[in-house]
Amino acid sequence: MDLRKFSASRLAVMLSDGKISASELAELSIERINKIDSGLGAFVTVDESGIRSQALQADALLAADKNRSPLTGLPLAIKDNISTAGIRTTCASKMLADYVPPYSATVVEKLRKSGAVIAGKSNLDEFAMGSTTETSAWHITRNPWSYEHVPGGSSGGSAAAVAAGLVPLALGSDTGGSIRQPCSYCGLTGLKPTYGTVSRYGLIAYASSLDQIGPIARTSADCALVYTEIAGTDGRDSTSMIDNNGNFSRKLGKLKDDVMAAERANDFSGFSLAGKRIAVPKAFAGYELQQETAEALEQAIRVLEQAGAVISECELPLLEESIPAYYLIASAEASANLSRYDGVQYGYRTARSDYADLAEFYSLNRAEALGPEVRTRIMLGTFALSSGYYDAWYLKAQKVRRLIRSRYNEILTEYDFILGPTAPRTAPLLGVSLDDPLAMYLSDVFTVGANLTGLPALALPCGFDNSGLPIGLQLTGRAYADDELLRAGIAWQQQTEFHLALPSDKEAESAVAAQLSGVRGEVES
Ligand code: GLN
Repeated sequence: MDLRKFSASRLAVMLSDGKISASELAELSIERINKIDSGLGAFVTVDESGIRSQALQADALLAADKNRSPLTGLPLAIKDNISTAGIRTTCASKMLADYVPPYSATVVEKLRKSGAVIAGKSNLDEFAMGSTTETSAWHITRNPWSYEHVPGGSSGGSAAAVAAGLVPLALGSDTGGSIRQPCSYCGLTGLKPTYGTVSRYGLIAYASSLDQIGPIARTSADCALVYTEIAGTDGRDSTSMIDNNGNFSRKLGKLKDDVMAAERANDFSGFSLAGKRIAVPKAFAGYELQQETAEALEQAIRVLEQAGAVISECELPLLEESIPAYYLIASAEASANLSRYDGVQYGYRTARSDYADLAEFYSLNRAEALGPEVRTRIMLGTFALSSGYYDAWYLKAQKVRRLIRSRYNEILTEYDFILGPTAPRTAPLLGVSLDDPLAMYLSDVFTVGANLTGLPALALPCGFDNSGLPIGLQLTGRAYADDELLRAGIAWQQQTEFHLALPSDKEAESAVAAQLSGVRGEVES
């Protein structure tokens, strides 16, 4: 059985009908990981025995028909910056190479409770800083659609794991686009939830006012199944939403029930775009889009119109300014959040003993363990926060953030969604972004808006470029209307088939073959 042919929602129905067991599903997942991940590099840690024991527990839940959820028995990859008790959590950094958290993130606790099977920890850019998964201290991750291209980042491991069919579902984190951009590059669907709706407790912080955990999957319906399980108020996260009257959780409960009922009936026609008002900012078209991306967007607008949506152009100023504002704020927060890694309180400690004083000891620890991208961000952030420069840089960035937020909210009083591309171009070749970091930063231009404003945004596959690489579009919705956004995504996927396309396994197989012959060569010589 080819795991890749089934959505998670379909697998959930099959599990619940006893057509497949969680243990069988787990073996399929393990088999596929063992077959191709040595060449793909999606995982940092795979918990094989853990997968088997969790699957047995899931089978018991399914058999008892008690305490189960749609996720019971479904294998899931967790980005390696989300804490998992007893399982190494490295942030893809030498700084945390041996760190085994004593507790789990709230999202992980919730997933375990729901009976999901945690397959392992997926690769990322070091401390989630990057857009390519090339800055991981461990290894790069490749794009399942083309091994010469990056999978995007920073949640590239999660996206590659789902796109290559190692697992049907994954969690990523999104500070400036790290869920949506790799989904776009890998032909997947990903949600950056409204800030505060998913607990950040146990997410190793990059930029606390921007970070959100969210789902990565093949379809919007699958994202809905994960999101409805992980979202909700959490007293352990002071920025968590307050759902006073239970309205929000009721909406999520309804979404989950609607998705499962539709999947069971094999009829998603109840999800509709009719009458939805969608704004397309003129500035997006003005941006340097790859030609195929621009065409895919045009085509998407026609499909949405045929589905009954009403599309209008709108103004969205400060698009260019959103990039410097984002990078200043993100770096400033990163410099504060990462100051704890000094080798005394937390993290890697140098083997040298020839330092003159404590300050030199700290700097040795940090210099030896942190990669160049992370060090750049720390220096930029420290500069932006330093006295004398604070007003000129950090404060100004916060003012731009406020202006951007009020403009988005104005648009969303008139419209249900804002539509645009997820990224200006399809996945770059490996290595290119390391040589031109500025171009890489600029490629976040369409995604950082949702983080600066806190709004929810959904990346959806919408085409392929001339070399067969996936293209993604993005819908941004109103705060706390994540359910509406996911419903729109489901409706979109009733009209289109891009989410059904699968990358071929040829490259995966030849990458592994090449590796094996390399090993053989070494053994022989
Ligand atoms: N590429 C962006 C950055 O490097 C976003 C990363 C993220 O969302 N974690 O900051």
